[in-house]
Amino acid sequence: MKNITIAAFLLCSIVCFSQNRDSIQSEAWKKIYRASATRINDLVHTKLDVSFDYSKSWMYGKAWITLHPHFYATDSLNLDAKGMKINEVSMIKGGRHSPLKYSYDGRNLRILLDRTYAGGENYLVFIDYVAKPNDINVKGRKVISVDKGLYFINPMGTDKNKPTQIWTQGETEWNSVWFPTIDKPNQKTTDEISMTVPDQYQTLSNGILASQKNNGDGTRTDTWEMNLPHAPYLVMMAVGEYAIIKDSYKGKEVSYYVEKEYAPLARKIFGQTPEMIAFFSRITGIDYPWPKYAQIVCRDYISGAMENTTATVHHETAQQDDRQLLDENRWEFGIAHELFHQWFGNYVTAESWSNLTLNESLADFGETLWMEYKHGKDAGDEENYKQMHRYLQSESAEKELVRFYYKDPDQMFDPVIYTKGGRILNMLRNFVRDSAFYKSLNLYLTTNKFQSAEAHDLRLAFEEVTGQDLNWFWNQWFYGSGHPIIDISDEYDSASQTAKVIIKQTQGGKIFRFSTAVDIYQGSEKKRYKVWTDQKVDTLTFPATSKPDLINFDGDKLLLCEKTEHKSLENYIFQYHHAGLYVDRREAIDYAAGVQGKDPEALNLLKTAMKDPEHRDGLKIYVLQKLDIANDAVKQAVEPLITDLATHDPKSLVRAEAIKTMGKFKQDSYKPLFLTSIKDSSYAIAASALLALGALDSVAALDVANQLTAQHVKGELSEAIIETVYMYSNESEFDSLAARFNLLPEGYAKFKLLEPFANFLKRVKNPDNFRKGIDMIVSYRDSMPSLFQEFALPYINGSILNELALAKQSSGLTEQSAYVHSKLPAKPKHQESGEISEETPQ
Ligand SMILES: [Zn+2]
Repeated sequence: MKNITIAAFLLCSIVCFSQNRDSIQSEAWKKIYRASATRINDLVHTKLDVSFDYSKSWMYGKAWITLHPHFYATDSLNLDAKGMKINEVSMIKGGRHSPLKYSYDGRNLRILLDRTYAGGENYLVFIDYVAKPNDINVKGRKVISVDKGLYFINPMGTDKNKPTQIWTQGETEWNSVWFPTIDKPNQKTTDEISMTVPDQYQTLSNGILASQKNNGDGTRTDTWEMNLPHAPYLVMMAVGEYAIIKDSYKGKEVSYYVEKEYAPLARKIFGQTPEMIAFFSRITGIDYPWPKYAQIVCRDYISGAMENTTATVHHETAQQDDRQLLDENRWEFGIAHELFHQWFGNYVTAESWSNLTLNESLADFGETLWMEYKHGKDAGDEENYKQMHRYLQSESAEKELVRFYYKDPDQMFDPVIYTKGGRILNMLRNFVRDSAFYKSLNLYLTTNKFQSAEAHDLRLAFEEVTGQDLNWFWNQWFYGSGHPIIDISDEYDSASQTAKVIIKQTQGGKIFRFSTAVDIYQGSEKKRYKVWTDQKVDTLTFPATSKPDLINFDGDKLLLCEKTEHKSLENYIFQYHHAGLYVDRREAIDYAAGVQGKDPEALNLLKTAMKDPEHRDGLKIYVLQKLDIANDAVKQAVEPLITDLATHDPKSLVRAEAIKTMGKFKQDSYKPLFLTSIKDSSYAIAASALLALGALDSVAALDVANQLTAQHVKGELSEAIIETVYMYSNESEFDSLAARFNLLPEGYAKFKLLEPFANFLKRVKNPDNFRKGIDMIVSYRDSMPSLFQEFALPYINGSILNELALAKQSSGLTEQSAYVHSKLPAKPKHQESGEISEETPQ
């Protein structure tokens, strides 16, 4: 599973906030060891026959479930079945239904079988039921939850701007909302689902479409068969009007289900899939194991994407138009991530949510591997570096990767499991080297195929292949928490002709053990030393006939750590030119940016970096963002380079960033370029130009933004239009701007509008209007589903409302400030200042 942008941002804020809540609320979960579910009965096969009541958002289901006792004989069966109405529970023998005794409490269906069955002895139960996903009761209380398992989107077609769809979301244990099952990740079942739907809709499920039957009453019944076993949370259904675009991989169907207007773009969005399948098949040594691979885009989807076996669901944001795709395909990471799950998660499944790393860390690392393979080492390193820093900034260091204590399984999907886990795998790859790494993955997949596994199973595969005991690595990185915080310094002693490297671990608690490379550069000569560090202070001595130009600790730049180095600008300039990895150059840019106003050599390095033909666009954009335009010397030195990049760089994202930087010059002579660039086919360029124009001439920018509002634009440009309109509109526009906010549905778009709307409210002086605006924000805040509310409260209360109160206070509007304060929690524990991430989904 992959969380979307809002969740990525929210995920960062949940850490502090949930700790706070935990201290207030019960801490009982901290004493509950989350073991794998005991396997009393095993699922064998699940056959479902379903139809839908769109007017009630109900599903009528019949389930034939084949099971057997796992080992010990038993006369009872406990199924997960959330919020259902149960009509019949029977044993089927020779086609005859014999009713069984059962009890049902809205969560669990406890069935007394007709006799005791021996371990491995199959039996078949039948259940007739109604799934009511909007009416799940927990302990007698109706829960308003985003977790419904089965979702009816615009079921009655009342929203003319939204198609009617049905889709499901199983992970973690929500598929038992729509079919009775043992909803645990250490179960596996084959399945067969017959869906009866109105004729105009397509259906999708796992496996192969075995048959389609026209019922002659405006409905059709599609039967999907999945003949290979997979975990219950990976079972899916989707129903809606779709264009289906088909590719193939070795004769297996690879298809993309998109809304009809995106049919011409489906291959631009998803078309790399067959190449990805070939790549992942090659590196794992396991040819894609499933009968087909479909990807479908679903409206109002609650996460970023979900790797249902052979049928991945993507959030509607995946549907980018041709102007968005001109800048970049933001969904490439997500496509790679979900696909790698087909091996790690689906072929071999984490036996419990405690072991989720076996699914998510691998999938996260799959993104890095794909970027490295497809776009080069810099691209892989860039991805690795960014993901490492998402973890380091998440303040999650106290959490283990394999975690047996958690409050809720849904809370396992955090930066530790994804971004830290992916980096640990990259360190492991570096440590055992590529060939052993992939051979070990192959052994793990082969040994555990169609079964579940725990983190030790991965260790055993690596130990078997490498011949090494790797308990230390697993104990430290998988079962332990945290990361080293290190201080690295070096000294040269000319008398003994030696260079010393002093590595201090400054984190509290345990000392980390790691192997890394120290590269010693003397002129063009580089000597690499493989070293081990395992003390609080390690002093390493190396021969060096003269003072080295650079001592580059962690030469492969993969160590998961926070580090302080004591290099000079000269060292960094040398590092930029000679060490040369993405991170080497990025570190040099960081250092030079810190002294750009003081040292002409630093500025020269930044200028070199702006022109570097070796750079992927990411690093060029990074240099532009680092320039201190407020400093006159910097401004004069870089201006010609920036205007050149703005007009001549082949990459639209680099041109866009250069235009954004030109906006900081506030120079009238640039206005014609901004006006022309607003019409650029690249959304990124048009958006930067509109914002840059606004800084120069807000009336002209507002005029352009209002004209563009009428056009159908997406992505960054649509965000820049909204920002401009709310930034520069006069207070007299209050009614229309408030209505625009109010009319948006309670989703991500509205969430993103919070900040521009709050900025507009800062300028609203009319007390009635101001209160109306605040009430709208508060109403949005208070009507969020509880799960999102928990994530979003720190941002809305802190960055939005509290900021507004402060702004009103400082402009002397104390009554308005007091009104905002009256809407804030009495004693906010946190004034968390989250920020809206512009990153692609995580
Ligand atoms: Zn995932």
